[in-house]
Amino acid sequence: MSQTNNSSGKVGFVSLGCPKNTVDSERILTKLRAEGYDIVPSYHDADVVVVNTCGFIDSAVQESLDAIGEALKENGKVLVTGCLGAKEDQIRQVHPNVMAVTGPHAYETVVNQVHEVIPPQHDPFTSLVPPQGIKLTPRHYAYLKISEGCNHRCTFCIIPSMRGDLDSRPVGSVLDEAKRLVDNGVKELLVISQDTSAYGVDIKYRTGFWDGMPVKSRLQELCEQLGRMGVWVRLHYVYPYPSVDHLIPLMAEGKILPYLDIPFQHASEKILKLMKRPAASEKVLQRIQQWREICPDLTIRSTFIVGFPGETEEDFQELLDFLEQAQLDRVGCFKYSPVDGAAANELPDQVDEAVKEERFERFMALQQQISAARLQQKIGKTMQVIIDEVVEEGAVGRSQYDAPEIDGQVFLDGQTQLQVGDIVTVKIEDADEYDMWGQPV
Ligand code: SF4
Repeated sequence: MSQTNNSSGKVGFVSLGCPKNTVDSERILTKLRAEGYDIVPSYHDADVVVVNTCGFIDSAVQESLDAIGEALKENGKVLVTGCLGAKEDQIRQVHPNVMAVTGPHAYETVVNQVHEVIPPQHDPFTSLVPPQGIKLTPRHYAYLKISEGCNHRCTFCIIPSMRGDLDSRPVGSVLDEAKRLVDNGVKELLVISQDTSAYGVDIKYRTGFWDGMPVKSRLQELCEQLGRMGVWVRLHYVYPYPSVDHLIPLMAEGKILPYLDIPFQHASEKILKLMKRPAASEKVLQRIQQWREICPDLTIRSTFIVGFPGETEEDFQELLDFLEQAQLDRVGCFKYSPVDGAAANELPDQVDEAVKEERFERFMALQQQISAARLQQKIGKTMQVIIDEVVEEGAVGRSQYDAPEIDGQVFLDGQTQLQVGDIVTVKIEDADEYDMWGQPV
């Protein structure tokens, strides 16, 4: 063990999975850092390694198990937490030597486990922690998690069994965190949860207080307040409940970004019912059209699953028709694969792998054409771009219509004088099916 005078010890940290998991990692790291622990980038320098796992799909489970294996091999002292941690038996079958296992959002327990391996020093160096906490995302954007868990029971998903029912954070605490982030230089807030539009349902939209004013714990009111902070506000994981209609005017007025990340997953009513998807019966196409009438700039990102059990050629065709009509901007597609413990595993009429592959190819071919055509329409337009990176060739940013890591980029060749976090007005000169090129005006 390598404790020094001004450090409680050294912790290695591996963070896997979705942005929600990243937020959990940030909370653990903030606490450890506040207690004087150093967070080190190599296994060899660490006194203990924490692996925050993901267990969403089989490939994520495998990636998590591999990461645990690597940490054990390179260091030997390993604490496991996160979604896969809910299945301790599965982990211990492969890696019996991990020191301890906890499930998702067990921040305090993980910190206590670290204490057991390396007791904290009595000089907790709290001043080393920036007031916004430790962020794994670059300083100019940050994820803002507004709730944990989910009240739905989609048949392909095991998140509720790992993370529990919806548990919304009080609105005052969310807004405090947002304000702290903004005060510390964050220019873009990415609102996340498992089910963002359901925010506050579990606490009956309780009225909280912020900035001396009563504010309801409801997405619309939250967005109105966030929209007053003078930064980009982007919404992820929004289901198309009727209440979403109230957010569109905020987008049209420029208060929050004209961007909605809605995981539709399918378009056939039969399949959506088999999936037990939330808001499955809302008239989606009609609503998208109405939203675009109010906010013509609205960008919609979505994900879909092809080859779900029971999906016939007719159902799949319905999905393709939906894509044609909906003209979504950014789309991800997954071939259905069973997740250990998910209800969908028991459904009849599982789809053959070759058929799944063929449908995936057809889906992607169609959507690529749509995405490319929609991006081509942006050539000649001016738009706001946030700079994510400055390299030798120029600056690389994202438009208001692109979220970090999942959407496209905007390349500003030669613009090396720009700074990360700058927001510039750019005229778009070229585009392919994913990225855009332009110059500041
Ligand atoms: S809405 Fe469905 S897919 Fe999303 S977390 Fe809840 S159960 Fe899982």
